[in-house]
Parts: sequence; structure tokens; C-alpha cells
Amino acid sequence: MNDTIAAISTTLGVAAISIIRISGNDAIEKVNNITNINLTKKKSHTISYGYIKEGNEIIDEVLISLMKAPKTFTTEDTIEINCHGGIATTEKVLELLLNQGIRLAEPGEFTKRAFLNGRIDLTESEAVNDLINTKTDKARKIVINNLKGTTSNKIRTLREKLVKIINNIEVNIDYPEYQDIEEITVDKIKKEIDNIEQDLENIITNSENSKIIANGINVAIIGRPNVGKSSILNKLIEEDKAIVTNIPGTTRDIVEASFNLNGITLNLIDTAGIRETEDVVERIGVQKSKEALEKADLVLLILNNNEELTEEDKELLEISKDKQRIIVVNKTDLDKKLDLNEENIVYTNTIEENGIESLLNKISEIYKLEQLETNDFYYVSTLEQLNKIKQTRKNIKDIKEGLKENISIDMLEIDLREIWQILGEVIGETYTEELLDNLFKNFCVGK
Ligand code: GDP
Repeated sequence: MNDTIAAISTTLGVAAISIIRISGNDAIEKVNNITNINLTKKKSHTISYGYIKEGNEIIDEVLISLMKAPKTFTTEDTIEINCHGGIATTEKVLELLLNQGIRLAEPGEFTKRAFLNGRIDLTESEAVNDLINTKTDKARKIVINNLKGTTSNKIRTLREKLVKIINNIEVNIDYPEYQDIEEITVDKIKKEIDNIEQDLENIITNSENSKIIANGINVAIIGRPNVGKSSILNKLIEEDKAIVTNIPGTTRDIVEASFNLNGITLNLIDTAGIRETEDVVERIGVQKSKEALEKADLVLLILNNNEELTEEDKELLEISKDKQRIIVVNKTDLDKKLDLNEENIVYTNTIEENGIESLLNKISEIYKLEQLETNDFYYVSTLEQLNKIKQTRKNIKDIKEGLKENISIDMLEIDLREIWQILGEVIGETYTEELLDNLFKNFCVGK
């Protein structure tokens, strides 16, 4: 049996109203103790007007929504108190509830209960969190799709396909003498496997694209001091946010700015130039730059057209080589001294404003930004889930290899079962406590 929990579901601050949510077996009885409304007599899914009281003292004038199990978000008895906003009133009402023996909810606990009680599955739970954090309209559209269970249904269908193949294999192994069962042939299996592989591929591409739509692309601008990082950043965001000077190493703070490119947010992280230094203040900047590089999806490595490649430039080329990277050769208005043999180069000159357009086009081209559509989007939202799907894609590839080399049919069955199991983990049909704790702790309290 679940104990009864409560939390403030709206942001605590000066506001017209606040909503306090209560869920659990004793929700109705406990709230009834602090109001003049007789909730035990009210019908489910009704709203009543009344007071919250402490003894005879009226604490607030409220509207109380009563929703009885099981048709509620958590599937438990649920009450929502609409009280007046503002910190003092809201906290007072919450305090009265806690005095009744109701426990303060942990982050995401309402959603966790909805999941544990079978109301929603894991991908839908995450969609709840995504929806709260979504910033753009494009992102909202894809998240709401997930909340409706689109991704879960896709994965469920995939699992059903797997079960069908597995059953077929089993029947063929166990009852080879039956004439009237469908004989399983390698060709048939191959066809089904190709089909499943394509579905997995779609989920992966969609998930990667949806991450871009929802969170934008993190771009780290790196380069040694004075090559023009701040100037390029300014041109990109078209305002003077970063300080431009010709004294090396002045951009000590990472300036974060963002701008829109084809409806996608680009989060720019300006860095102090990655270089070993004795200067303590600067070293903090350097450390930050390395962190920025780790956080970045895309790296813009700026080099100076007017100087030969330095050791430091080479180091930067080395540490960013495995990242999605564009090399920006800046200061093309000055004599060319740089000799470079690399791919993905764009030439700029921030004084005469040349090349910024090409840089934007290059980014757009790499991420196919113009083609990112939000229709019929389904995705998995955590990296962990995405990695699991990628794992199953790899398993499918192994199976295909195996089929070429005539692996035994029972080996094949084991492999297919494993994929079925992993996909189950993605939608939470098979889950661990640890996974749940990790997932729900990222939620806000009251959700
Ligand atoms: P950062 O230290 O890498 O951020 O470099 P800044 O953006 O602060 O630029 C350093 C100096 O180079 C400043 O004096 C800029 O005006 C100058 N600068 C930036 N871009 C160009 C360019 O394209 N051509 C020339 N000639 N100078 C530039």
C-alpha cells in the first residue's frame, strides 16, 4: 500500500495561485481534516469551493479538486488544492498537510507512482519530464507525441514481431514432424530481421534528431588566444556579448549565448583558448574550455590565417579530432601564412564580415537542419535508452552475419530473445529499482 504524499506542483514564488497535489490512500480523509468542505460526500472529479482551516482559523480560501482512484494520474485517490499563491500561504497549507502525517513527495514521485501502477510506461514517464523542460514549439510537438505513447507502441510492435519469429522457431524445433505448421526458412527470417533493423534505425535517427530539436546543438568555439574566437561569436549572435581585445587571453569567462538557425537553437560556448598556463585565473578558463569541449556536440576550431600552425594549434587539432568539427580559418584579410591539410574548413574574416554565412551553411549542412521535420516523431529521450537501442541494432547486425554463416536455429533464438529483453528494458516492461531511482530523481518535486 502506498503512503500518502503531497507537494507544491507550481513554482514557489509570488503568483496568483499555487497548486498543491496530494496522492495516496488517505488523501481524502487527511485533507478533509483541514477543510470545511465535506470531501467524503463529494463525487469524484468535482471541484469544491471552501476554506483551509487550522482549528477555527481560516488559512486560505481555496478550490479543491477531488479525483478518486483509479481514474487519476497516479491511479490513486488524488486531491489538488488551488490556494492563493505566494510563499507564506502555500507553505502554510503544505505544513498543515504534513502535520496530518502526509509525507512530502520526492522529485518525480507522482510520475513514478503512475509508472509503477501501470498507468504509463517509461518512455511516457520521460516525456512528462521532457514536456516540463521543453523550450521551443518544435520540441513541444515531438514530446507530446511521446506522451501519447507513440514510441512505446513502436517498440511494443517490434517486440511482438520478435516473439512471432521466436515462436515460429520454437514450433519448428519442437514439432519438426508437423506438416501443417509454417516452415521457417532462413530467407523468411532474413526478411523479418531486415524489417526490424529498419525500425530500429528509424528510432535511432529520430532520437538523435529529437535531441537536437529539443535541446539544440552545443557548440564550443576553441582556439588559442587572439585568433578571433570572440569576434566570430559576436558575428554569429550579432551582438557584442563577448569582449574583443587584442591582448591574448582576455576572454576568461565562458560566454554562453545562443541563436537560432533554421529553427534549431545553437548554444555557443566561448572559451579562453585551450593552453597550458602558469596564470591561475587563466588556468581556470583553460579547465573550463576542456570541459566545454566535452559538453560540445560541435567544435569550431579557430585558426589564424596570418600565422603558421603552432604547437598549440596542433594540440587543439589533436584533442578535437574525434569530435564533430569545423575548422574556421579566420583573418583571411591578412596574408596567408597558414598551411593546412584538413577537411571541413571554412574561411572567415570578421573585419569585412566574410565567411560567416558559409559557416552557418556548413553547420546546417552537417546536421541537415533544413530537413528536420517534427511530423510523426518518435524517440527515446535518455542516453541510456538510446544506447540500449543501439545495442540491439548491433545484435541484429551480428545475427545477420550469423545467418550468412548458417548459425544454428537455437542460437538464433537466444539472440532474438536477448533483443526482446533489451527492448523491454527501454519501455520499462523489465526494470530495476536503480534505473527508476536514476530516472525520477531528475524530475521536479510535485510532478
Ligand atoms: P580571441 O582571443 O580568440 O577571442 O580573439 P578576439 O576575437 O578577441 O580577436 C583578437 C584580435 O583579432 C582583435 O583585435 C580583433 O579585432 C582581431 N580580429 C578578429 N578577427 C579578425 C579578422 O578576421 N581579421 C583581422 N585582421 N583581425 C581580426
